[in-house]
Amino acid sequence: MIYPHIPGPIRIPTPAAHTRSTMLATLENTSHWPLGNCWLACGRTNIPVAFLSPIILPGNTATGLYGCADCLRAWGERALEHILNGGSA
Ligand SMILES: [Zn+2]
Repeated sequence: MIYPHIPGPIRIPTPAAHTRSTMLATLENTSHWPLGNCWLACGRTNIPVAFLSPIILPGNTATGLYGCADCLRAWGERALEHILNGGSA
């Protein structure tokens, strides 16, 4: 099964470019995403998900981080709000 990969780093859209954002445009059409489990906030199963990043566990066991469009959209909005409020890491 081949999962779509959201290319990193995730590009947070500016408010003016919001509708043109590559990330958001990608998230609007998930019909080709394979079904899987979202590892982000919603935890839903058997829904369209994208591969986000490899995860290396102790012992060098590798797996992947997967997320659904709803969670990625919320994640991007949260990051944008954080940046606009002058937040720091
Ligand atoms: Zn999710």
